[in-house]
Amino acid sequence: MLKDVQQLIEKTALNLKLEPELLDLVLKPDRVIEFKIPIRMDNGKIRVFQAFRSQHNNALGPYKGGIRFCQEVSREEVIGLSLLMTLKTALVGLPFGGGKGGVIVDPKGLSEKELEELSRGYTRGIADFIGPDIDIPAPDINTNAKIIGWMLDEYEKIKGKKAPAAFTGKPVERGGSLGREEATGRGGVVILKQLFKKVKDKLGKKSFDEITIAVQGFGNVGYNFAKIAAQEGFKVIAVSDIKGGILTENSTLNIPLVYECQKQKGMLAGCYCVGNVCDSKMGRQISNEELLCLPVDVLVPAAIENVITKESAGEIRAKIIIEMANCPIACEAYPLLEEKGIVVVPDILANSGGVIVSYLEWMQSKQEQCWSAERVNEELEKIILTAFENVWQKSQEANGNIKAAAFALGLERVVEAEKKRTS
Ligand code: NAD
Repeated sequence: MLKDVQQLIEKTALNLKLEPELLDLVLKPDRVIEFKIPIRMDNGKIRVFQAFRSQHNNALGPYKGGIRFCQEVSREEVIGLSLLMTLKTALVGLPFGGGKGGVIVDPKGLSEKELEELSRGYTRGIADFIGPDIDIPAPDINTNAKIIGWMLDEYEKIKGKKAPAAFTGKPVERGGSLGREEATGRGGVVILKQLFKKVKDKLGKKSFDEITIAVQGFGNVGYNFAKIAAQEGFKVIAVSDIKGGILTENSTLNIPLVYECQKQKGMLAGCYCVGNVCDSKMGRQISNEELLCLPVDVLVPAAIENVITKESAGEIRAKIIIEMANCPIACEAYPLLEEKGIVVVPDILANSGGVIVSYLEWMQSKQEQCWSAERVNEELEKIILTAFENVWQKSQEANGNIKAAAFALGLERVVEAEKKRTS
């Protein structure tokens, strides 16, 4: 994935005629902190977990980015993701740079106590390198408000003072922002609505209820995207998680009901919830591969990276892809999607709602304020729509390629900031 991101940057830099020294600066992280976290497990034995924090670039402000607890995390992956964060915060105009962290672990194999110990151990490992004006971590895959709450508590114990602005994605009771939990999904839907206005004639569709959507991933991002899209009137007909997916042929899923059903059953299979009922005749089970190739209008990969590859790109039948996960499309797959005329909204724009509301949370924490959900959502919409319009305009000069336009805008801003601080 690091190579994929670097290739995209190199391509963008070539178009921008960037000096090699500046390109080198952007391709490599400022610093990677790599450490071990020893934990006493419930059975009395000690296990050691490998952890990382990549601080990529802070020309525009403190490093900012999530922490993932995942078996597949690696040094390369967090560097690649931190690079994307630098471009994302620059693209949407936030006063932040880019960072990312992770621990190699399958959190499902840990008890609650072990998970808390791991979260506190991670914080001890990075406490000297983070802070409200230095590096501000947040949740990502398999981490959530509860985990961030433990991390903040550990950080404040170490520093001996309150520092709520040191983390975002905190529980609301501990200074988190209303609206943060669903912000990434909400931002993606705001973008989809705006994009629809631009391309509805091309699609030959008049209203949201004529647009079918399939969402891969039913965690924070996928669930909230699907829920809010359905609330807005889009037809969400398929969703999936790591175990597989469900499809209703032509009815909108009741997403909160699907969520409740999945919680009870432990899987999505059988949760064919339409209207106020879940009925086994209302749909069927599908695999993740099938979901990606459904003949829907909009495909939303919202789980993990590299799910659309060079091999599978030819099978994609959606007209629009909203990249809600980071890097869900492998680099070599893009040209094939472009050839097919598929409109791709890139991750650094599509999923920027999370970091935008993290920024709003950071401001509230610094100013000891607590905004209403309405105010947070309004600000989110304003910021993300401005970014979308800038990218859309630029894409019109780049053969309609939204991804190329977004990368160019992000990179230009980072490079300009770098030039200003080194002159
Ligand atoms: P999450 O852990 O809450 O949910 C991940 C979901 O993906 C789960 O439903 C899981 O079952 C599913 N999944 C995992 N592996 C899969 C596979 N191989 N095939 C299909 N489904 C699979 O994570 P999240 O916070 O929703 O993050 C999802 C993606 O969005 C990640 O790429 C993350 O970096 C990105 N992202 C998250 C945020 C945020 O605010 N949480 C912000 C920006 C980007």
